[in-house]
Amino acid sequence: MKVFNWQLNRKMDYKYPEKRPKRQAAYIFDTNKCIACQTCTLACKNAWTSGKGQEYMFWNNVETKPWGFYPLAWDVNLLDKLGSQKWNGSTYAGKTVFEAAPEGEEILGWRPELEDYSYPNVGEDEVSKQINQGDHITGTHMSWMFYLPRICNHCTYPACLAACPRKAIYKRDEDGIVLVDQSRCQGHQECVRACPYKKTFFRETTTRTEKCIACYPAVEQGYQPQCVQNCIGKIRLFSFKGSPTAPKADNPIDYLVHIKKIALPLYPQYGLEPNVYYIPPIHVPETFLKQMFGPGAMAAVEAYRNAKNDPTLSGLLTLFGCTDRIVHSFKVQGDIKSGTCSGYDEHGKELVSVPITEPITVRKPYDPQRKVFRLSVT
Ligand code: SF4
Ligand code: SF4
Repeated sequence: MKVFNWQLNRKMDYKYPEKRPKRQAAYIFDTNKCIACQTCTLACKNAWTSGKGQEYMFWNNVETKPWGFYPLAWDVNLLDKLGSQKWNGSTYAGKTVFEAAPEGEEILGWRPELEDYSYPNVGEDEVSKQINQGDHITGTHMSWMFYLPRICNHCTYPACLAACPRKAIYKRDEDGIVLVDQSRCQGHQECVRACPYKKTFFRETTTRTEKCIACYPAVEQGYQPQCVQNCIGKIRLFSFKGSPTAPKADNPIDYLVHIKKIALPLYPQYGLEPNVYYIPPIHVPETFLKQMFGPGAMAAVEAYRNAKNDPTLSGLLTLFGCTDRIVHSFKVQGDIKSGTCSGYDEHGKELVSVPITEPITVRKPYDPQRKVFRLSVT
């Protein structure tokens, strides 16, 4: 069937008709702020995957690019198989994983070996190329790395769902969260083979497949998922994305994805219309960024660099990680120096208000009232 994929700016083949949920659960991750502390990974693991048979399961993982992968080589393997991935401006001219499927198959995929799940920290903190003794920075970054946090993308066109012979995987009408019905799954692992992001996991003890559930019990109560609530770097935002053709300027996801175009999908060329959006790192070569985040990567970097002159954008970026509740709309008042950004729930009630520029107080070393020196040493 032909469906429209706005991230490719064209129609593409998919097994089922185009059907968008009323509102789509979506995340934004600011890669420039991630410190790879893995608190998100552990928050998720403690909440959902601490049981027997789930030892290697990381519904959330954080890998160092360019050398980190979990499971091993998840992205480069498929990029190789897919071949040339050309764009004509904002329109994808190559093939998606659905269009590149071998004869008689639904999706171009591959299934990792068990050992590929054994090294979640491979490549951690490794930079793109060797730094020799005596090298010094001459203005641009000669070598680089960045942290890429990853979860299931709750795709608009999930490959896992299309591949399942048991129809055990479904996408909820109310919020677009993709779930595996454990009573229908029979462990064929076609979803593991199909998901280009390798975010479904087979559990040996139950012989069923499991995946990120977007913490739907929390989301249903108006709370952001565990990985978002616990993020130390305040790099994450969860909310609901509106229609790609009628974005709302006061919706935080719509604003960053569709209006500012500063948050981009991961490997849009795969064709799944993923709903985790990334603010790309600002110090990484153009070719790498475009391959990973599509043709809008450099414009997104530029917009991020200019955020310091844009109170609305700066204000919204400040709101990341400031409340455990889901922010449905936001409003910025005032300028960058003295303004505030407020977040509201779905009924328009204010949840949080933060200064765009955090006030800094410098304490005097001597307190004349108490006649003491305030020193930070003992
Ligand atoms: S908790 Fe936040 S800062 Fe820490 S690794 Fe996860 S995404 Fe990055
Ligand atoms: S990221 Fe993978 S597991 Fe998640 S919805 Fe997309 S295809 Fe399915």
